[in-house]
Amino acid sequence: MRIGAHVRLDSDPIGFGEKLGADVIQLFVVDPRGWDKPTPHPRTEEILASPIDVVVHSSYQINVASLNNRLRMPSRNAVAQQAQAAAELGAFGLVVHGGHVRSDAELATGIDNWRKLFERQQDKGGFAVPILIENTAGGNHAMARHFDSIARLWDAVGDYGAGFCLDTCHAWAGGEELVGVVDRIKAITGRIDLVHRRWRLRRGRGGRSDASRAANGQCSVSLRSEAGIGPMWLRRLWFGHRGFAVC
Ligand SMILES: [Zn+2]
Repeated sequence: MRIGAHVRLDSDPIGFGEKLGADVIQLFVVDPRGWDKPTPHPRTEEILASPIDVVVHSSYQINVASLNNRLRMPSRNAVAQQAQAAAELGAFGLVVHGGHVRSDAELATGIDNWRKLFERQQDKGGFAVPILIENTAGGNHAMARHFDSIARLWDAVGDYGAGFCLDTCHAWAGGEELVGVVDRIKAITGRIDLVHRRWRLRRGRGGRSDASRAANGQCSVSLRSEAGIGPMWLRRLWFGHRGFAVC
């Protein structure tokens, strides 16, 4: 298992990773809150030459499930562009949030929009790197919050080679117990490509109390004792509170 961390400052990602002793780093290829098209990373050669592996996290506003064309279309383009930029850095995948729709009535269409993302890209030769769908914590109509909705999503996209990024804090804050979480997800997706673990929680089932429970370490304690991830893994994962592991 490779252990790493998210790199906030991308001016020297490899230097940051080396300082941490990371096996893998995660970075953005654009401002994660904008719609900019990625430009070549100024440190591309260094990143490619380094033994540290790279994974890219896509920008936050991407929502390929949305029924709103003006959000879904730029989201599709952004996924393709950022996957291409990830490939140019030698990344092994692009993490994309499951996204959400506005009502339960829209869930089936949201799932179909995910399927169309892969189907349409397949006609163009597929994505430049595997797309790793990440579970999210908040929202009542999220595509990848509750495990039953992840199962429905996977029925639609699993055959296209989608990967899965398990965010344990998102799962916990989203109301899923962490007991056996790895096995339960694997039973659905058949794979976990990446595990995110962090302190910061979006407003989850208990709002502020969730955050304080996380601050008290319950999230990480649960992770250690219940998710089947050993203490040594956890210790190394402490990097800057932004650690993750690549399975
Ligand atoms: Zn994420």
